[in-house]
Amino acid sequence: MRSLDVGVIGCGTAGAAAALFLSRAGHKVTVYERVDDPQAVGAGVMLQPTGQAVLARLGLLENVLARAAPIDALRCHTLGGRTLFHLRYASVPGAHRGFGLHRGVLFEQLFRAVRAADVTLRLGVEVVDLATGADGAPWFVTKQGERLGPHELCVVADGARSQLRDDTAIRKRVRPYPWGALWFVGDDDEAGAARELYQVVDGTRRMVGALPTGLGPGDAAGPRKVSVFYSVRADRVDGWRQRGLDAAKSELRAFIPRLDAVLSQVDAMERLVFTRYQDVSMYPWHTDRVVYLGDAAHAMSPQLGQGANLALFDAMVLADALAAHDDLAPGLAAYSRERRGHLGFYEYATRWLTPWFQSDGAPLGWLRDVCMPLSRWVRPLERLMVRAMTGTARGVGLGAPLALPPSTPRG
Ligand SMILES: Cc1cc2nc3c(=O)[nH]c(=O)nc-3n(C[C@H](O)[C@H](O)[C@H](O)COP(=O)(O)OP(=O)(O)OC[C@H]3O[C@@H](n4cnc5c(N)ncnc54)[C@H](O)[C@@H]3O)c2cc1C
Repeated sequence: MRSLDVGVIGCGTAGAAAALFLSRAGHKVTVYERVDDPQAVGAGVMLQPTGQAVLARLGLLENVLARAAPIDALRCHTLGGRTLFHLRYASVPGAHRGFGLHRGVLFEQLFRAVRAADVTLRLGVEVVDLATGADGAPWFVTKQGERLGPHELCVVADGARSQLRDDTAIRKRVRPYPWGALWFVGDDDEAGAARELYQVVDGTRRMVGALPTGLGPGDAAGPRKVSVFYSVRADRVDGWRQRGLDAAKSELRAFIPRLDAVLSQVDAMERLVFTRYQDVSMYPWHTDRVVYLGDAAHAMSPQLGQGANLALFDAMVLADALAAHDDLAPGLAAYSRERRGHLGFYEYATRWLTPWFQSDGAPLGWLRDVCMPLSRWVRPLERLMVRAMTGTARGVGLGAPLALPPSTPRG
């Protein structure tokens, strides 16, 4: 495809990765980010084999992994000690492994690369609307009413609470989950020793998890981090906080006693940061001149640990789809077609799975505790669960896994 003038809205995971891929493909790229001085914020995210493959293609994987913690398995048991599942990456072909990392590490590497690339970066610009010019090209309207552009292609990557998604005529469903989680990132040099994401559940109302998160953002050598999360319904957060810090900490400690030293670092309730999840689905993910990537297009609960990985994959597939076509319209149509099976699986699976772990459905919790341990005797089911964890499931999950680009690390 000839070189396009592309405007990208949002410099998070999807926007930054899209800017890098598209500028490397020869397009003229401008990124608009509402934050004046973006920082390495957030807590733990999982980097799955899919996300690793994309970062490898961008040449950023080595730097990201240098500050991440290898994860060989996801283990979950009940507060009473019953193992619900213990999913090992090694149980599916491909020598896959996950990595736990601070979101800030991913942000930092992508942001530095965008700064170094042939990309125009406009910080402190909040785009609130898209206007269409006489020739159909989108103009970007800022909060101050300024019109920027026009660009031949607009990439909307403004996250789960996208303001721009609402204006499109594409059929969509946008719903906040009633539930979310309180997060804390603490120092814990031993956190990575077990090389697992560990969760303890009590029915469907309470869950505590610990994700080793490596060295965290910045360039300092240590200590290593762990991200601790506690599942809670949004309208119960204030009540939970009002019980006081000591009660809160002892509840978390009862789930995972070895977190004692980490929890002692929580010196104020505000250090436990609440995040509420969104559930967004739409299809297709494009119009004539606009394409929606990342959480703006398909936000979901983090139950399967895929958010950042799907966003990275979107960016890579978009650039490949455009490169494979001479005109924009078939390129964008190819993008939506190509993403359908992969995103469809994770949207459906996450929506189906989440209430079994975060809801008020007591019978679901009971059923889960009875049925899930049986999955290890049903090999195809366990394989599907591991495949889903690696980020490579698609369609109904039973067909061939998603093919990863050849530069994917195998060790
Ligand atoms: C501050 C922050 C902290 C997060 N922390 C975590 C975490 O701890 N764990 C986790 O799993 N996920 C976290 N996420 C979400 C995670 O980064 C995303 O799920 C994933 O990486 C997909 O990325 P995305 O690019 O679609 O969205 P995001 O990473 O959310 O990026 C969206 C970007 O768009 C910018 N933006 C939004 N609106 C506008 C606008 N109108 N005009 C211009 N720019 C705009 C935002 O400032 C942001 O930089 C966080 C996201 C943010 C923004």
